[in-house]
Amino acid sequence: MNLEKIYKDSGALLEGHFLLSSGKHSKYYLQSAKVLEDPKRAELLAVTLAKKILESDVEIDTVCSPALGGILAGYELSRALGTRFIFAERVAGTMCVRRGFEIKKDEKILICEDIITTGGSALEAAEAIKDLGGKVVGFAAIANRGFCNIYNDSKDMKKECKLPKGLPFFALGNFEFTMYDKDNCPMCKTGTKALKPGSRGN
Ligand code: ZN
Repeated sequence: MNLEKIYKDSGALLEGHFLLSSGKHSKYYLQSAKVLEDPKRAELLAVTLAKKILESDVEIDTVCSPALGGILAGYELSRALGTRFIFAERVAGTMCVRRGFEIKKDEKILICEDIITTGGSALEAAEAIKDLGGKVVGFAAIANRGFCNIYNDSKDMKKECKLPKGLPFFALGNFEFTMYDKDNCPMCKTGTKALKPGSRGN
């Protein structure tokens, strides 16, 4: 599967001059929601991801996604895996499970995001699940930003990765972009201004 082509074709991989939330500048930006706006494409991605997960020996009762970004990916993945789906959401800064979703003791739960950067939200969702007695058995995402290491991939995780070391992380591929400090950004040197994604209301 050519993940980069799928992202490009769906307008989810933007090229330009971007100011990221970390303060760094980048030539690329991922708008992952765009890749899932076509349900057929979302289904294809989820089925392919599910296949990777089913080839492992990880048993899953339920998929849980942190709202909002992970919900579409997690829902499609749970359909492909034949499991239940729930989501966690941030309330006053704390990730929690609401909406009447119940978790049985030691229920095997996979945390699913659309894209994993450092895995911060995924880890928060995992903590919320553990607090309720569930057992987190792994993590999944359509794409990985290259900080965490994908299951069965020999690359080391970088220090920015917040996912726990002992659990598998399934993803379809990596998007590793060079990020620049403002002072040595080659795009800045050409005189263009770094645009904050979302600053035009998108
Ligand atoms: Zn720049």
